[in-house]
Order: sequence, then structure tokens, then C-alpha cells
Amino acid sequence: MRYISTRGQYRPVTAAEALLTGLAPDGGLYLPEEFPEGAALNPFTAPGLTYQQLAGRILALFLSDFSRAELEECIHQAYGGNFATPAITPVTMVDAKLGFLELWHGPTCAFKDLALQLLPHLLTAAARKKRLDREIVLLVATSGDTGKAALEGFKDVPGTKVIVFYPEDGVSAVQKRQMTTQEGNNTFVVGVTGNFDQAQAGVKALFTNEAFQREMAAAGKTFSSANSINWGRLVPQLVYYFKAWFALCQNHSLAPGETFNVVVPTGNFGNILAAYYGKKLGLRLHKLICASNRNNVLTEFIQTGVYNRNRQFYQTLSPSMDILVSSNLERLLYDLTEADPAQIRAYMGQLQRTGCYRLTAAQQERLQEEFWAGFADEGETTAAIKDVYARYHYLLDPHTAVGYKVYRDYLEATGDDRPAIIASTASPFKFNRGVAEAVLGAEAAEEADEFALMKKLSAATGVAMPAVLAGLPDQPVRHRQVVAPAAMEETVRRILGL
Ligand SMILES: *Cc1c(COP(=O)(O)O)cnc(C)c1O
Repeated sequence: MRYISTRGQYRPVTAAEALLTGLAPDGGLYLPEEFPEGAALNPFTAPGLTYQQLAGRILALFLSDFSRAELEECIHQAYGGNFATPAITPVTMVDAKLGFLELWHGPTCAFKDLALQLLPHLLTAAARKKRLDREIVLLVATSGDTGKAALEGFKDVPGTKVIVFYPEDGVSAVQKRQMTTQEGNNTFVVGVTGNFDQAQAGVKALFTNEAFQREMAAAGKTFSSANSINWGRLVPQLVYYFKAWFALCQNHSLAPGETFNVVVPTGNFGNILAAYYGKKLGLRLHKLICASNRNNVLTEFIQTGVYNRNRQFYQTLSPSMDILVSSNLERLLYDLTEADPAQIRAYMGQLQRTGCYRLTAAQQERLQEEFWAGFADEGETTAAIKDVYARYHYLLDPHTAVGYKVYRDYLEATGDDRPAIIASTASPFKFNRGVAEAVLGAEAAEEADEFALMKKLSAATGVAMPAVLAGLPDQPVRHRQVVAPAAMEETVRRILGL
């Protein structure tokens, strides 16, 4: 299967090339030239598939230039003892029609592990296939979740190095500790005395510095970004939606032919797009419910057909969804415009120039046929955590709580109470301040030390902390370097010996 650019101004490429380059040279995102057929992925005809077997079948449909043995090797390395449960992504039903798809049992306790545990292995296999004998250097600026997930994914993968810059005072104490204690002989974690935008600008400057790229090539190295627009991050995310379907059928919440709804707390539109592609592949989904926090640009887009990034940016309790430009949306535009790259170029041009574009009525109708949208503000997020704990004795992290609030709104607005799955994107203990405030009250949450607060939350609720988080205070700090934003290039040079 070949991959084409959403902007239509580049030749089709192989899956290996799409993965290695991430973004197409015309600025577009890669898509399969023809969408595959997934009828064989059915819990009623093929029950009992393990997560790994399901992953093997789905990856084989999309990454056809990889052999089955190559894919199986990658999957074997990605999904094993590094997850806290053999189910990898278990579904917890809180009542007969509502389940939480827990995507946080991986090494960093957030859903990005599902893609980033696999991607490094796919990238190195793709590089071998292209006979690129260059070291892959992953360069990341992070506001928290992505950096740690990339570090864990690339840790000790031969032929790779990973360098992560984080804003020294811009991540939570847990996130910082997760990164500064990172193990692995090829991992480099550096604090930046600036905010996230400065760290990101520093990384972008290196990516676009052609002289630097030439120096890298001469030294046998090449940069990779592995960010969420990479096709290799999207495909692994289809697997858990199928796994959820299989689970609903196994516990008899769903009969053959019946459909279910899925609710996804959304930022860059990657996770929910994977659910949409799952539906194209045969997943029996009815509505895709897009949940945003106060940065509700996607809610407005789905409700009105207008994408408008000209608005106030809010820092919220669900920081991984604090996004105003959802880059993966461009892939959905391809379907909404019925495969019209000229129209996509026009929309993306308008977005860049004016910060805004508007779908046609027909496109908006197509969008609303598949998607429903809502959002939660800070008070509503806290109330949702409290409500779910009171009702079901189940702890939600603030991102997942946004999803739950929007699910309740959907029920009320439509009366559509068919079975639903809410994607639970992080462990509550990863964002324990917001959770403790909701469940234990503001006073109890005044505890200054985040690790002490985590223990308090666990003791008060009887919910166990993930072992990887509970053990953090005892892990030795291995990365202490902090640099000014202006010194980032120099730092990368030193790390790479250039
Ligand atoms: C990244 C992230 C999201 C948003 O996912 P997208 O694919 O960007 O829409 C939601 N919740 C958590 C915890 C995340 O880390």
C-alpha cells in the first residue's frame, strides 16, 4: 500500500518512507492511497484475539511493505511486561452500558505509550528496509507527557538516541521526576530556563537548519520528530478501539450488528481520528464524541463548521488538551472534501493567514454525521471527577473527566443511550492535584509535596497507585542539566559529538 499527501503535491511513497519522514515535503500529512478492508477483524467471527494478535492484523493491513515477521518482532518488543496488565488496554465497565477504556497501564501512565512503545521499533525496521545506516536522533520539546513517553519508547533501542527539552518550571513535579530519573544509555533530558514555546522554538530551529542537517548527515545521523502527525503513531491507536469492541462483545454489552459510541478527550485530534479510521475499517461505531476543555476550538468546529484559532488560550486542569491548532484534523479534511487537495491547501492557507476557515454546508453535514462535540470548563471537570467517584467509586484523571462530562451532555441532548466507551487517557495519579481537590477537597489538596499527595489520595480512596509512579521518589536522578534557550543548539552538538 502506498501513501499520498493530503496536499496532493508529492509523489506516493511507501509506508516505510511515510514513517521515516513524518511530514510530506509539500507540507501535507500522509494517508493510505486506498483505505484497506478490515472485515476479518470481527469479535463474532474471530473472538479471543489477544492485543498483540489484533495489532499484528491491523498493522499488516496498513504497513504492507513490512513482513509479518518484522511486524511481529516490533509488536513483541512494544507490548509485553512493560505494561502493568496482560490485557494492555482493559475496559472497566462502571455500569451495563458505560465502560472506560484504560489507556494508561504503560510505562508512563498515559495513552501516548500505546503508540510510542511501538514506533521506535517500526522506525528502525523502516530504516533497515531503506538501507539507511544512519543513527536516528529523536529531538523533542515537551510540556510533559510526550517527552516521557518518547524517552521510554526509544530507551536502549539500538540505532537511536533521544534528546528531550522541557521547560524547567513548566511541568508538574511528577512529570519532572519521571524525566530526570529516565534510564537508558541513549537518553538525554535537558531542562530549559524558559517556557514550552521557547523550548519548541529551539527544536524547530534545529529541524529547519539546513547546515546543521548536512553536518548531521556527514556524521551518519538523521533527525526524527515522531510527533503525533506521524502515520506510525496513528495506526497503533486503532488497535485499542477494536480491543474495546471485542471486550464489549465478550461481556455481552453488545450483540452482533449492534453499534456503540465512543467518547475521546481530544487535543491534537490524533486519538479520535484513530477511532474514525477504525470505523472506516469496520469497527461497529455509531457516533464519535469529541470532548474538549476550555480550549474548545474543536467543539465550535464540529457544531458550526468554522475553525477559528483566534481566541484566548487557557491553561487548564487537562494540560495535554490545551491546544488551539489540532494538526491531525487535516487528515479528516481529506474525507470531508471528498479527496480534494486543492481545497485542503486553500483551507490550510487561510488558517495560516487569518487563523480561520469555514467548511461548505455539504462538508459540515458529513462532519456532523460522524461526530458530536462538547466541552467542559474547570468547574465541570472537577464536578465530573467528584460525581464519578461518588457514583461508581472510580477515579478519573481530569482529561478523562472532560470526556465523561461531555458524554453526559450527549445523553441529555440526544437520548442515545446505546453502550458507550470513554477513552481514559491518563492515570488519575499522574494528575493527582486536580483529582485530590475534587475527591478530598481543597484543604486536603493543599499538601505541597506531590508524592505525599499521591499517597494520601491512594490511602483515602483505596485505589492503588501505579507501581511506576509510586516508585519514583526512590529512583536516582540521572539528568541534571539545565540550559538557557539560546544554548540548545550547543547542547545538541555536545550530546552528538558534532
Ligand atoms: C495527548 C493527550 C490527549 C490528547 O490526545 P490527542 O491525540 O492529541 O487528541 C488527551 N489526554 C492525555 C492524557 C494526553 O496525553
